[in-house]
Amino acid sequence: MTAIMPTTSPWTVIVKNPARLTVTPNLLDYDGGCASFRWDDERRTLDGLGGGRVNIAHEAVDRHAAGARSAHDALRFVGRDGTVRGVTFAELSDATGRFASVLRVLDVGRGERVFSLLGRVPALYTAALGTLKHGAVFCPLFSAFGPEPVRQRLELGGGKVLVTTRALYLKRIAHQRSDLPELRHVILIDSAGRPEPGTLDFETLMRHAAPYGSAAATRPEDMALLHFTSGTTGRPKGAVHVHDAVTAHSATGRYALDLHPEDVYWCTADPGWVTGTSYGIIAPLLHGVTTIVDEEEMDPERWYRILAEQHVTVWYTAPTALRMLMKAGAERAKLHDLSALRLVASVGEPLNPEVVVWGQEALGLPIHDNWWQTETGGIMIANFASMDIRPGSMGRPLPGIEAAIVARDEDAQPVIRDGEVELVVDPGVVGELALRPGWPSMFRGYLNEEERYRKCFVGGWYLTGDLARKDADGYYWFVGRGDDVIKSSGHLIGPFEVESSLMEHPAVAEVGVIGVPDDVAGEVVKAFVELKPGFEASDVLNRELIGFARKRLGTAVAPRRIEFVAALPRTRSGKILRRLLKARELGLPEGDTSTLEAGR
Ligand code: ATP
Ligand code: MG
Repeated sequence: MTAIMPTTSPWTVIVKNPARLTVTPNLLDYDGGCASFRWDDERRTLDGLGGGRVNIAHEAVDRHAAGARSAHDALRFVGRDGTVRGVTFAELSDATGRFASVLRVLDVGRGERVFSLLGRVPALYTAALGTLKHGAVFCPLFSAFGPEPVRQRLELGGGKVLVTTRALYLKRIAHQRSDLPELRHVILIDSAGRPEPGTLDFETLMRHAAPYGSAAATRPEDMALLHFTSGTTGRPKGAVHVHDAVTAHSATGRYALDLHPEDVYWCTADPGWVTGTSYGIIAPLLHGVTTIVDEEEMDPERWYRILAEQHVTVWYTAPTALRMLMKAGAERAKLHDLSALRLVASVGEPLNPEVVVWGQEALGLPIHDNWWQTETGGIMIANFASMDIRPGSMGRPLPGIEAAIVARDEDAQPVIRDGEVELVVDPGVVGELALRPGWPSMFRGYLNEEERYRKCFVGGWYLTGDLARKDADGYYWFVGRGDDVIKSSGHLIGPFEVESSLMEHPAVAEVGVIGVPDDVAGEVVKAFVELKPGFEASDVLNRELIGFARKRLGTAVAPRRIEFVAALPRTRSGKILRRLLKARELGLPEGDTSTLEAGR
């Protein structure tokens, strides 16, 4: 069986780095191998707690609070009503110390789990970093989760403390509190001195808390974070991360996001997703930058206003948000002064070349795609700051990261002989993306799921479950998730390629592509299309889109059928749920939909 993905992108543009970009000097001559990079050298750039101890909260907050950046804004909150409030490193250090003291008073032990069910509010940062400072484990949940996903995760994670709001507690937890015997304390951030029965008031606890002193002397391998995966392919897994991950947060913040102390940085990820912690909280603080935290949900006008008014220099967002901005029109961006922006990066889903190029037109900058997973804890592959971007490619492995493509058999399963995987040597051949374990933010297990964890490793490689190909220059190109790949008339078809091609049509805002069973071909491609405003669903447009795709992709790969939808089903981290499109199409059970965005 041959894979017919073209080895070159239909987009031949290679966008040069814009002059405004501050290039990280030691990456200027990065050649994809970066033989001189060593994690130990990176560790030495952090100051540690002495005696081989490391604590993420110390590196991210206390180190700066004790130094020259103490009065610098670590965070800048933009409230729903637009009010802006800065929090300095000194203030954040004090608040997180108090929260750590609260945990001590509540008798929360090292390694015990503290969960949050919060939006983007100051207390989220206090709880996350205070928990780490105390040596307990932080586990954020999406605040939009319903009662069942919240209960499942608290139960699986053995949550001892939950920090949330009054409304969320009453809606999601109160009625099932007795089903969660391990949950000893619920802390409400907004109960204004009058907590609900069985809960504690955050403000009161914080007011009476003593300063904590220095962060708990955690060992590099002590568990620090528990992150549930997005659940795109099925039941979410609880990935365990340790304090040593901070080394990778630091390196990737520098190489992939080009963070410098004078930056104003904004990560739009939901706090319930791993990106919200690794790059919404930890990495920017490590680099002493000011992080914007917007309480509100995505809205094009508001977002452009924040970018302009806060002089954001580095912006980290997701394809779905960028596609939404595209849908609103490039003219909207032009109404704002975005001249402070020097780097825009994206993660979470394949970034269509169309969107990269739109960035150049609307924002004056191309978009740097990068790839990673909850399991990897940090960015692994990126079009990083000092490198030419190839639109449609995820980029190249970061320094210290060894990646490879593992050969796949006819059923798209990895080829394994005598316990060894077969690696693809030739450029352009599709296989499973694999990483050589050993980087510090690598997950140390799926909580309570040893077997599921073990299955991720074969012959000394971590298999990511994603299909990709590598070109002759070492750039990696995403093809699709292993489970999403379509087998049609002897070809393997990656949904991303079909989606990107349809995205080039002016009427198309978003697309999700699946394979549906066919007597002759085995499977044929079906596309679900969300239209841009001003376009009406019609048979004529349907035929036009099929013809449009055929011209670009050929008849074997182009969708045989197109269905117009008002909204595609998406996870709360913004990923199109192709497995749900498929289940609905085939009338099969929907499976785990705990991370499905409401109303989809
Ligand atoms: P689950 O593992 O529960 O199915 P998930 O894999 O979506 O959920 P995450 O860890 O949040 O959970 O997402 C990682 C996945 O997101 C990657 O394995 C990949 O499929 C996709 N992804 C992330 N970044 C990119 C990117 N730049 N291009 C293409 N895909 C990406
Ligand atoms: Mg995954």
